[in-house]
Amino acid sequence: MSGPVITVDLEKVEENSRVIVKFCREHGIAVMGVTKVTCGMPSVARAMISGGIRQLGESRIENIKRLRNSGIDVPITLLRIPPLSAAREVVMYTDCSLNSELPVMSELSAAAEELGKIHDVILMLDLGDLREGIWPDDLMTAARKVLELPGIHLRGLGTNLTCYGGVLPTQENMKTLALFANRIEEELNISLEIVSGGNSSSLDLVSRGQMPKRINQLRIGEAIMLGRETAFGKRWPGTSPDAFILKAELIEVKEKPSVPKGKTGMDAFGKKPVFTDRGLRKRGILNIGREDVVIEGLAPVIQGVSILGASSDHLLVDITDSKKELKLGSEVGFVMDYGALLAGMTSSYVIKEPILRGVVKQQKRIVLTGDSPVFSPSFFPEDMRMLGYSVEGPLPATEDTLIETMKQGAIPFVAGRDRLTLLGMKAMGSALGQSGFILIDSHPSLMSDPDAPEDRKVLSSALGLCDPSINVSTEFSPENIVLIGIRAADREESEIIRRMNITAFTMEDIDFLGIREVMRRSLRTAGAGTAGVYLSFCQNVIDGNGEGLTTRELHLAMELISRSGLMRCMDISGCLKRGQKDFSSLLHFTESVFGKRILIKD
Ligand SMILES: *Cc1c(COP(=O)(O)O)cnc(C)c1O
Repeated sequence: MSGPVITVDLEKVEENSRVIVKFCREHGIAVMGVTKVTCGMPSVARAMISGGIRQLGESRIENIKRLRNSGIDVPITLLRIPPLSAAREVVMYTDCSLNSELPVMSELSAAAEELGKIHDVILMLDLGDLREGIWPDDLMTAARKVLELPGIHLRGLGTNLTCYGGVLPTQENMKTLALFANRIEEELNISLEIVSGGNSSSLDLVSRGQMPKRINQLRIGEAIMLGRETAFGKRWPGTSPDAFILKAELIEVKEKPSVPKGKTGMDAFGKKPVFTDRGLRKRGILNIGREDVVIEGLAPVIQGVSILGASSDHLLVDITDSKKELKLGSEVGFVMDYGALLAGMTSSYVIKEPILRGVVKQQKRIVLTGDSPVFSPSFFPEDMRMLGYSVEGPLPATEDTLIETMKQGAIPFVAGRDRLTLLGMKAMGSALGQSGFILIDSHPSLMSDPDAPEDRKVLSSALGLCDPSINVSTEFSPENIVLIGIRAADREESEIIRRMNITAFTMEDIDFLGIREVMRRSLRTAGAGTAGVYLSFCQNVIDGNGEGLTTRELHLAMELISRSGLMRCMDISGCLKRGQKDFSSLLHFTESVFGKRILIKD
């Protein structure tokens, strides 16, 4: 660990979603799962969907794009009322938006007409919290006008409470909302599909049986993420409060007095600090600060640890009474409130690490697939067996064979003259679900031109950028895709890497960071929240007159992949050069991938 990390227990997010969805369903309410506090993190959205959420809400277009890039295809509603200047984008990327301004809805309508779409809107009614919404006196006129807009479908009425004014949802104000919904239906002779009664602060009212029947949707973020309702801040029964844990490292541990020594003025934030003398205390400094989180919103997980204060980059803790032994380099975890979570998830200094449990365990079994002239069991090094692997095959590289192999936890070794990467990825997606992808190649393989050589569009095809009928981005999120060893990329490829948030390490990056660091980051990125990693290797990455990876670098890269235990499929298909006779380097790399070291140690 080199910086602070937020771990995300996806199973807890899933279970929290399931609890909230079930509770709401019993009261005739559909849940819109709100992902904004995680900046639209795709694995979190996916966990919510596994927990029964059927629609998502997001406050920012950037986050919606992030979700869509990762193959999330449930309806997404834009929660923050759209800016006048972004109407077109809103219509392009969202299915529905919350609105309170007629001029904006006119623009949305025009954009929708131009794009040949109908955009759904939910009109927001301000019931006194004084954030977004039309004032009740103006609602009927506004609704009438909305009906005149040809590109807009008035889908529902909603309200937002307990955000700015702290106004609580009550039976009375919810009844007002329901009454207005009925009035719109009667006077304008339409039917409103949705009456959206607020956020996590409305759950308590539902549990007391006081939510009017007419309210059929809630937009829930915090209760799912942090397991609490927000009217009174009560823990929600059956949910976990610790799906998200912030972890930082102790960078100093010393015994010091509890009161500063010397004449005191202001602290780093212009405040005059006050201290109580508790004598000599064992104090620690953690590598996180106000730049990353809201310190006041943190609560240490370890009993006996308390927070003393913080500056921009340092968090001071008293660890004298810690129930766990803490020393320099130890990790200290914190649960967060909403504000701290929001800041931490938004800070680019904090690594987000989704954790997926219940992953199929990797076996020491290699199944050769494909028609490789190089890799046959007889040719496959005896060393592989010495490393403790059993080697089977070769079997024909069919999707079924690959799926079956991976489901058993064995590792398919895909080789052969044809590039079979897409087939392998499809199989891995079906067998294991959420997966990461590491491509070691001199090209990004992200061209989308139909005339581009097959080899140059492996990844663009996988992400659905070439043929819309092929798309494995639901299983292979671009956020879990890493390219290593890039020497050349065209403009379009660079643009896709940037737009889809793909991680790429060029030869320059490797020179600069060193292959060890590159692999550490790569494995972390590709492995985060996945069942394992697909490794695709193309030998053109090697050397190339000194421009590419050296043999030593490649060996180390392969060894680090091996040690991570993350690899679930190894693919070197379609990378033999025409007329190639010497396969020894390929064989050596393969051995490294499966754990061969120069000296046998354990
Ligand atoms: C953020 C937000 C929500 C979700 O609020 P939680 O308190 O996290 O449940 C709901 N509706 C709107 C309009 C929001 O902006």
